[in-house]
Amino acid sequence: MFAPDNVLAQWEAQLPESQGNARLLLLAELAWHCRQRNVARARLLAQEAAELVSSLTGEEGKLAAALLAARFTLIEAEAQWLAGKLEVGEGLAQQALLAFEREGNALGCADAHWLLAWIANDRGDCAGSHSELAIASADARAAGDMIRADIIDAAAAIFCVFENLQEATIRWGQRFTDDDGAHPAVAGWVRDYAGITAFQGADFGRAVALLMLSFEAAMATGQVRRAITIATNIGNGFTSLNAHDAALEWMQRALELARPTGWPMCVGLCLMQTSETLRHLGQGAAARELLHEALLALAPLAASRAYAVALEYQGDLALDLGDAQLALDSFQQLQLRGEQLGQSDFKSSARRGQAHALSQLDRPHDALAVALSALDMARGTGDVGNEIAALRVLAQIHARHTLPGPHDMAAPNAVLHYLEAAMQLAATIDGYPVPAALLDAAAREYAAAGDYRKAYEVSLQANAVRDQTHSQEATSRAVAMQVQYRTERAQMDGEHHRQLAASEAQRAQVLQRTNATLAHLSAIGQEITAHLDAAAVYRVLDRHVHGLLDATHFSIFLLQPGGEQLCCAFGKEAGQDLPPTCYALSDPHANSARCIRERREILIELDEDGATPNLIPGTLPTLSLLFAPLCVGDRVLGAMTVQSLRARAYGERERLVFSTLCAYGAIALDNASAYREVAATRAQLMDKNIELERAYHTLEEVSLTDQLTGLRNRRFFLQHVDADVAMALRRHEQPGLSAEREASPDKDLVFFMVDLDHFKEVNDRYGHAAGDAVLVQMQERLREVFRESDYLVRWGGEEFLVLARATDREEAKVVAERVRRAVAHRDFVLPDGTTLSKTCSIGFACFPFMPSQPRLLTWSQVVELADMGLYIAKNSGRNAWASLYCTETTQADGLFRRMMQQLEQTVASGEVRVVTNLVQPPMLRGERRRVGLSSDLA
Ligand code: GH3
Ligand code: MG
Ligand code: MG
Repeated sequence: MFAPDNVLAQWEAQLPESQGNARLLLLAELAWHCRQRNVARARLLAQEAAELVSSLTGEEGKLAAALLAARFTLIEAEAQWLAGKLEVGEGLAQQALLAFEREGNALGCADAHWLLAWIANDRGDCAGSHSELAIASADARAAGDMIRADIIDAAAAIFCVFENLQEATIRWGQRFTDDDGAHPAVAGWVRDYAGITAFQGADFGRAVALLMLSFEAAMATGQVRRAITIATNIGNGFTSLNAHDAALEWMQRALELARPTGWPMCVGLCLMQTSETLRHLGQGAAARELLHEALLALAPLAASRAYAVALEYQGDLALDLGDAQLALDSFQQLQLRGEQLGQSDFKSSARRGQAHALSQLDRPHDALAVALSALDMARGTGDVGNEIAALRVLAQIHARHTLPGPHDMAAPNAVLHYLEAAMQLAATIDGYPVPAALLDAAAREYAAAGDYRKAYEVSLQANAVRDQTHSQEATSRAVAMQVQYRTERAQMDGEHHRQLAASEAQRAQVLQRTNATLAHLSAIGQEITAHLDAAAVYRVLDRHVHGLLDATHFSIFLLQPGGEQLCCAFGKEAGQDLPPTCYALSDPHANSARCIRERREILIELDEDGATPNLIPGTLPTLSLLFAPLCVGDRVLGAMTVQSLRARAYGERERLVFSTLCAYGAIALDNASAYREVAATRAQLMDKNIELERAYHTLEEVSLTDQLTGLRNRRFFLQHVDADVAMALRRHEQPGLSAEREASPDKDLVFFMVDLDHFKEVNDRYGHAAGDAVLVQMQERLREVFRESDYLVRWGGEEFLVLARATDREEAKVVAERVRRAVAHRDFVLPDGTTLSKTCSIGFACFPFMPSQPRLLTWSQVVELADMGLYIAKNSGRNAWASLYCTETTQADGLFRRMMQQLEQTVASGEVRVVTNLVQPPMLRGERRRVGLSSDLA
């Protein structure tokens, strides 16, 4: 069903050598397994195989031919489904199914039902999709194929989870074993199911881990569409974990995969999930634009689950942007879609969203009633995520309007009642990040109700959650490292696709060669078929016709779309253009129509004194008339005719030449029309690409920027540092430039590590928002001190890394002092207007550390030295800067290790010099915390 890449590569390698039946079977396998990897190639392979099928003979041969033909139909059906053409896809899949049934081929039936299930899915027909999968599963078992049966059942289980998590767990929970020996595609689908289950149970960490495995499996087994869906689900999971960096990485991955396919479902999914991530990052306007495009892309699939999810996103975005009416509309549409789909998660979230919008529209009673029904529905299906969401909205409604509370209320008021219920429920879920906003709201309510002890407790809890969110940032950064590796892998997969395309081109050449059976005309043939533009083909044909034959008249008729009429596409007589003419194909008098109907050459020879029958008015009375159909395989494109004023102008040689020219002409014209179509599709694809390209750039920019301060983030730094290091090394190492080297001192890199002193106090005393405001102002001050071309990076919490480029190492201390003053000599302004005096500490180090041996230390070791300088400054009293420099007597041997482990000795012996503004002797001992990523970076 889904062959792994390595198996495909083996087939691919065997193909050029194989012949006859072996080649036919290889072509059929390759075509089937390329059906998502590369649709165009799958079609070409199937076409070549279809041509070979006719050579199968005998009873067995006939059976094999029928099965292969059905398989090729199924491949085309899948291509149509992917392209969003559900009707066409369904028709073809049904046709293939009939053929498989006729031959009693259970495997083929299973595959056809599988595809029909997905078509039903995209149409939002859940019942249809269920029943197709059930039949597919039974057929797979009947064929004894447990791999297919497992995959099909896992997909059925996934659909079930969306409908009702509890029922799905009861029905499918025990069905699958986590078997390491399983086929990769089976393992992938089983993990997909487990991941989606975890996701719907709000256990996002587990969901993401499982989905990553299933993504790899899908990629390795040619399931491109599933892979794109999974990648967006992973992004979604990271968004729910507040790990936006990682979320963006995955959205980007999905976009990269979807871009070349142009499949509407995939493109739409990517755009809408990216939009949702941007919404969580507070980028409402960008989110709205992407979502708009997503809804457009999904328009042909408006009945699908994906479209419903997009409606939910639209509602939430409208709520964020304060457009309550649009929110209400979106959630009402969602409710309708949810009911048609029978998927319970929408039933609750649609009502939750409507309630929220109704409250914003000042319709409190309606809001309350709808919110209560949202709560009921989530409870009924065990959907905790939506249950918490409904409880929060109920609290918001009661906070905004005066309404009667629930009768079973133990809390002092209804707001607290619902907030407490939400918090209790959230606490029962492993790995669920209780939103700090929820806790803040509870703290406020406790305080308002006079319960200060509780208020204090909950606000401590809120702070703890925030700290945890920060440490979650670290976790997601670690995941991001992993992600980077996978990104590279994904790029290699892209390379694989390009290679496939190249071998396709080669194959086309081979085809051309085998067609050149008439060797003496091959040069002419090549010239004709080299053209991809019909007008050029006519001109070349015209030239050779006159070179080889006596032809006063030469014209080409082409069948029109619909096949009932033929029109003259090119016609010349005695050097004059002929007037345009058309005939019905059924015209009994037109020779060109007759030669097409009868698929044969027609030669008419008249005596000099006879009259030309059926003479076209305005044309010359020719005596020799030769007509031949333009055929490619068993398709006929039109007819060609040459006519001479001489009697008996066309003997056997001439007729052979003419039929050869017709063969070439037909191929060339067919190529030209295929090319026109390809060019048109390509133009459509290009439009899609431009949209995606734009989305991609927005994403790229967002994912390289720290959201709070607008500074660059680590990811940006890691992308760029190597190039700068290479440049610095070149400047130091280029032989013969020593004189210039002396003259140009700006060849060093200096890494500054800047950390605010006692920053935690700001948060503790004035709150997190005050802390944020200080960080934003810190960014402004760094920009004042450094140059535009330097990299300003938010390295972590309240810690900044600056890479000053093309700098003189002797200047660095002046810059460090400027930073210190920029912070210490001016107060920060908090959101409430109060001012606050803060200081910072700075460590820096130069790259190369030892100019005489530029490669002695890596840049990441130099960053560690900057960090060491920072901690010397911290341990020596703060509001200071410090740096370690090499000296004339520095020994290269084991230098970094000695500095890290015995710094005091290296300084005492004069091997290392401490450059600092400290007046008292610097503290060289003491606890130094780790830079964190440095060991990964080295
Ligand atoms: P030191 O002088 O030793 O550097 O003390 P410090 O308090 O600055 O350092 P510590 O590392 O103990 O505390 C850093 C604090 O920064 C803890 C964390 O809550 C806070 N923080 C990290 N990121 C952010 C952020 O984005 N916003 C706010 N407001 N605070 C943050
Ligand atoms: Mg600090
Ligand atoms: Mg710090």
